[in-house]
Amino acid sequence: MSDSPRNQILVVDDDQSIRTTIAMMLAEEGYEVLTAEDGFDALLQLKAKIPEVVISDLNMPRMSGFEFLSVIRRRFPQVLVVAMSGAYESAAAIPGGVIADAFYAKGSDTPGTLLRLIANLIRTSASRAIAHAAQSAPVWVPRNGKDSRGLPYVVLTCTECLRAFPLNVSSEATTAVMETPCIFCLTELRYVVDSSLSVVFPRKRVMTFAAGAGMMQG
Ligand SMILES: [Zn+2]
Repeated sequence: MSDSPRNQILVVDDDQSIRTTIAMMLAEEGYEVLTAEDGFDALLQLKAKIPEVVISDLNMPRMSGFEFLSVIRRRFPQVLVVAMSGAYESAAAIPGGVIADAFYAKGSDTPGTLLRLIANLIRTSASRAIAHAAQSAPVWVPRNGKDSRGLPYVVLTCTECLRAFPLNVSSEATTAVMETPCIFCLTELRYVVDSSLSVVFPRKRVMTFAAGAGMMQG
């Protein structure tokens, strides 16, 4: 045991049993563990305390893990991020990729893999923080469908003030980085419309659209 302060890890997952299991496993390894039930909860906690590592599920309500991790990279470039998902076998299998230092496949990777992966990240954290700071990660936003006028829109969460607002976008699928000012604080936001979310949330989207009768037309 070293006498340096323990490394802090924030575990973000809407599934309480997974959150608790991972938190307990990390605590047994000697890490100081914080947990959050989704991206918004996590961002609130990050205002008070910034951990070394954030482990986040990709499929969560309210704010997707893709969006959450891109906010983390922009606001806290020194933080190491691990994306985890049960929907993909590897980071390479994710359409459009994900902004993370490592990927953990829930269900197929062993818990031991996660521990090794985290130890590895912490060991190489200094060089990673430099690489993160050099990038300017755009925010990835899910495509929300169409508004009452039939125009496609997304909901952008400002990386500075954290307030969210709807924004009309082109109906063409593109992975180009776009820019727009936050309507509240005027911070220039860079974003990518994340069309992969229809793959990540197939069931939820069907339910949403079924409830909003006819919104899928066009
Ligand atoms: Zn703002």
